[in-house]
Amino acid sequence: MDNLHCEIDAIRQRLGKKLLILGHHYQREEIVAHTDMQGDSFQLSVAAAQNVDCETIIFCGVHFMAETADILANSPENLAKRDGRRVDVVLPDLDAGCSMAEMATRQDVESCWNSLTTLFEENEIVPVTYVNSTAELKAFCGQHNGFACTSTNAKAVLHEALQIGALQKKSQKPCVLFFPDQHLGRNTAIKMGISESQMSLWNSNEPDFGGNSPEQIKNSRIILWNGYCCVHQKFVPGHIDEIRKMFPKIRVIVHPECRRDVVEQADESGSTAFILKQITESPAGSAWAVGTESRFVERLAKQNPDKTIVNLAFQPSYCETMGLIELPQLAAMLMSVESGLKRNLIRVENRIAPDALRCLRRMLQACS
Ligand code: SF4
Repeated sequence: MDNLHCEIDAIRQRLGKKLLILGHHYQREEIVAHTDMQGDSFQLSVAAAQNVDCETIIFCGVHFMAETADILANSPENLAKRDGRRVDVVLPDLDAGCSMAEMATRQDVESCWNSLTTLFEENEIVPVTYVNSTAELKAFCGQHNGFACTSTNAKAVLHEALQIGALQKKSQKPCVLFFPDQHLGRNTAIKMGISESQMSLWNSNEPDFGGNSPEQIKNSRIILWNGYCCVHQKFVPGHIDEIRKMFPKIRVIVHPECRRDVVEQADESGSTAFILKQITESPAGSAWAVGTESRFVERLAKQNPDKTIVNLAFQPSYCETMGLIELPQLAAMLMSVESGLKRNLIRVENRIAPDALRCLRRMLQACS
């Protein structure tokens, strides 16, 4: 392993500013140690798009993150600034996908949309995709005047989408189709005062209206896709009861990809960036039980030795696909980049990239 560390350091030094290595918060510690920036998927892509020097981005994350980096780094404006030169985005392991992103395919969402437009006029319903989704779905939203959202800005985006729906529909009951994560959609809507009776869950394996009656769908303000993150879905209210028995003064903080009952019983909920900020800024001696990916929680505990920081569940909850990237894959990726081969290139097709970019930009405008 020491050899690999030395090899990686040497190649990084030789490539200098031409190379940018991005590491998602859920990556292995030994990978994060070799990254230029750490963060959540969208933060990393935005920062990468602003970098003027780099020629290649190695994205130590999962497939949809590399797609977003490619879309933003190679936007028409950025291409013009570089006289047309593209930035290549590569993923060290092509098997690093996201099971939640794969729960909503373009074909299934199109089929849902076609059913919904038998009940609504097309401009009466607004599609919103969590950034944890394929570029195909971002393009779908871009084509239908929809939005992307992150776990940080989901509330602002949903608010904007419902307002736009209201303007288009000229009624008090605009509707949003939210995919792929039902939990982020539900938890955000509840924070906005929308009750669960005003939401429907769309199961693409069910016939007709995703397992709902036409009346249910017509009376919904939010239609939630039946997707979820297997890492965050593992947390249950029993974990909170247990941890509070063990540490009566502990604060429980969870990610909004967790189930509604977990979010409601926690003391606080928010994105990875929010969790990082709350814990980092808390006073020495604070105690936290954290309901999110365990590599991130373990890193937080290491970075805050003056606080007690534990996983909310006793069994760690790791994102397996993020964990596929190990030192040998990173070293091989670097060798390939240095040799000019550029294996594992992630390039969003021209067919969909402009609409996917439009969807991301509409999100940024909604939050500005
Ligand atoms: S933690 Fe969940 S949402 Fe994030 S990449 Fe892993 S499976 Fe996908």
